[in-house]
Amino acid sequence: MPTDPVCKMEISEDTAEATVDYKGRTYYFCSEACKESFVKNPESFLRKTA
Ligand SMILES: [Zn+2]
Repeated sequence: MPTDPVCKMEISEDTAEATVDYKGRTYYFCSEACKESFVKNPESFLRKTA
């Protein structure tokens, strides 16, 4: 199950409120607010999860 990289919530692909394609991967978000946070600074969230 994918995880929202901003808030770490587990998201179903079917119920995700927002998705972003970044560097060939699709990220799923629980809300538009989380998506916007990610889009503003994707690397900061990806570094934390790596
Ligand atoms: Zn979220």
